[in-house]
Amino acid sequence: MRILSEADRRRSFAVISHPDAGKSTLTEALALHAKVISQAGAVHGKAGRQGVVSDWLEMERARGISITSAALQFSYRDTVINLLDTPGHADFSEDTYRVLSAVDSAVMLLDAAKGLEPQTLKLFDVCRHRDIPVLTFVNKWDRPGREALELCDELVERIGLQPMPLTWPVGAAGHFRGVLDAADGSFVRYGRTVGGATAAQEERLTPAQAEAEVGADWLRAAEEWELLAASGGEFDVERFRTASATPVLFGAAVINFGVRHLLDLLVELAPRPTARVDADGVARPLEADFSAFVFKVQTGMDPAHRDQIAFARVCSGRFERGMVVTNATTKRPFATKYVQQVFGQQRSTVDTAFPGDVIGLVNASALRVGDTLYAGKPAVRFPGLPSFAPAHFAVARPADLSRAKQFRKGVDQLASEGVVQLLKSDLRGDAAPVFAAVGPMQFEVAAHRLEHEFSVRVRLDRLPYSAVRRLGDPAQRALVDSGRRSEVLTRSDGADLALFEDEMAMRILLRQHPELELQPLVAEG
Ligand code: GDP
Repeated sequence: MRILSEADRRRSFAVISHPDAGKSTLTEALALHAKVISQAGAVHGKAGRQGVVSDWLEMERARGISITSAALQFSYRDTVINLLDTPGHADFSEDTYRVLSAVDSAVMLLDAAKGLEPQTLKLFDVCRHRDIPVLTFVNKWDRPGREALELCDELVERIGLQPMPLTWPVGAAGHFRGVLDAADGSFVRYGRTVGGATAAQEERLTPAQAEAEVGADWLRAAEEWELLAASGGEFDVERFRTASATPVLFGAAVINFGVRHLLDLLVELAPRPTARVDADGVARPLEADFSAFVFKVQTGMDPAHRDQIAFARVCSGRFERGMVVTNATTKRPFATKYVQQVFGQQRSTVDTAFPGDVIGLVNASALRVGDTLYAGKPAVRFPGLPSFAPAHFAVARPADLSRAKQFRKGVDQLASEGVVQLLKSDLRGDAAPVFAAVGPMQFEVAAHRLEHEFSVRVRLDRLPYSAVRRLGDPAQRALVDSGRRSEVLTRSDGADLALFEDEMAMRILLRQHPELELQPLVAEG
């Protein structure tokens, strides 16, 4: 059946990394090896595309949100690869996390000199919570960095993830000769091409040839590799798919070393789309009628062009442009004839899509993050999207008190869309809710939309909290409220969140009151 075979060809993943680890470079290198089919949103253009980039940046500034984040689709061998973007830097927000609800696996990109970094860890936590299989690519091996074994140890020690190296670097970081290929023990020697503009040259040597040609570097790599294999690093695809271990590859995206190998492994190992479980716990078969869920909505901030693009992941069936689908939340029909505009100009039109693909729906002002779209029968609604541990907090009030009613309405609307989370306390009352966000840009988006869509100017006063836990026992509220650098606020879903100025303030209170029940808060729902 066409739908099943098309779904089987899809590999949908995101790259999780800290800014500067090389995500844009890797994305371009992957696209270089493959045939780019279409791009939802913009390519992560950097070098050589200055014009394009600055245009986009200008629009991003004007709109106050990132418009470069969506999905890049390309074909490689016989597969269709969907690479979903996880925005970083200043636009890190709940959207960044939500992207991970739309992928089947993730590539964790590490800088060889830095290893695990804060943003990598945050994103990895979400992968772990959702049991998303993670493949690890250690990047920048062409530059001096840390020891390969030390980086592998770090995975075990800091995140409890067993590394299963599929390649092992020959030559220390900064003296990258090639890799030992775990599949057959041979040496893959890399050769640079001018400027790294094309795929790297690769030459395969037997272990004996490798020893004769590169000597000590080869012997050391082979020794380290054996050591690791003996200590539980033997490759086991089941442990990757159940997310308890991670295949590890070494490379240098900027000169394309190791990139083809990564693509090949994605094709061979990365999970295909599977039947998604709906809100009632029933899996919707891939070959059922069309269904998708919206994981990201971009609102045009310009009031003259109040356009909205909703990005949805296809979960089942075949999507055809022009289809009229039902929004499971509102039960209203939604016509999809404008899909092509997302991919307009330099981007190609999406006429059909299959499970695993991302479609961008234009003029989608009726769609919200978490909405389910479906066609045919039976009706389906996928679980709403989770909320994540916020790290930024601000008290919101209308600048003009006579607009209090519109303010309430707008705030409720934005919270229901997941633009910000809404927290309340008896102390502050209903008139001054607290906005909570994963990244501060969410505040800007909320303020902008309140002003332009609800004609309410909002005053935001930042609160000095940065650490948050869920309070296990509501009776302990007073303990946290009594601390000078902490308070408890209740989220709109009823969860009591204990906020602390920092981790230290939390530890001090815990020392005074060891009976306090505080639970970590990653992704819920
Ligand atoms: P992003 O912020 O994760 O998207 O990172 P970029 O792709 O923009 O890369 C950050 C910097 O690292 C840029 O100057 C890249 O040229 C550089 N870079 C990326 N990959 C490599 C690599 O494999 N080797 C070296 N030496 N530099 C790299």
